[in-house]
Amino acid sequence: MGLNYSKELQLTDEIKAKDFHGQFYRCTMKQGQTSPYWFWQPIKLKLSQGILQCYNNEKIDSSINMSQHTFVSVQDPQLREFIIIIIRDSAITFWRIRAQKLCDMAEWVYALRVSKRPNVKILEKCQICSQKIQNDRRSSYCRFCGNILCKKCTHYKANLEIMGYKSKQIICKNCITEVRSVKKLEAFARLKIKEQNETKLERSMSFQGDMNHAGNRPDRSYSVDFT
Ligand SMILES: [Zn+2]
Ligand SMILES: [Zn+2]
Repeated sequence: MGLNYSKELQLTDEIKAKDFHGQFYRCTMKQGQTSPYWFWQPIKLKLSQGILQCYNNEKIDSSINMSQHTFVSVQDPQLREFIIIIIRDSAITFWRIRAQKLCDMAEWVYALRVSKRPNVKILEKCQICSQKIQNDRRSSYCRFCGNILCKKCTHYKANLEIMGYKSKQIICKNCITEVRSVKKLEAFARLKIKEQNETKLERSMSFQGDMNHAGNRPDRSYSVDFT
């Protein structure tokens, strides 16, 4: 195809091809949920080729495609906590995930974010302005949707930390609004959880103490009030 996307795509492919296994704690919150409790429960996560599987008592509890509708955010590094935001049929679910070690948290957040990167789609015409595309430029694909577009329509740059990039990346005209709304959603989720933690600091701290010794008590669950 004459295209050379070099190191960055190779790294993306490597991470997407690798299998990750880990033990975590999870609590789930659905948008508009009235239940007053959040239960922390031990879970196993497996990430393989962009699919995240969650096992609860050795049974698959959920299978999530790390697509454009799933996002990962760091909530609290001190608590080794991150959030997975899942948008399905216009309903939003937040998973709060706690790792036992800080390095596990960092590795998983990065792997999950990189898994979200789309495969590059080679097109003959620009999907935005219909101009014919010359597939010879490294810089003409949108890092958010993966479409190869004309130079004019990929003239923008955005901070794409949500996909594991550390510097600003090329993005197409169509994806700018989408990235903005994702960032708003991420900020909303973080704020909600922060409010929870502030009102229930004592319990959250006792949870932390328990979690450090909870390795051999897989059935134990923890609750945090949710208002
Ligand atoms: Zn165009
Ligand atoms: Zn795009």
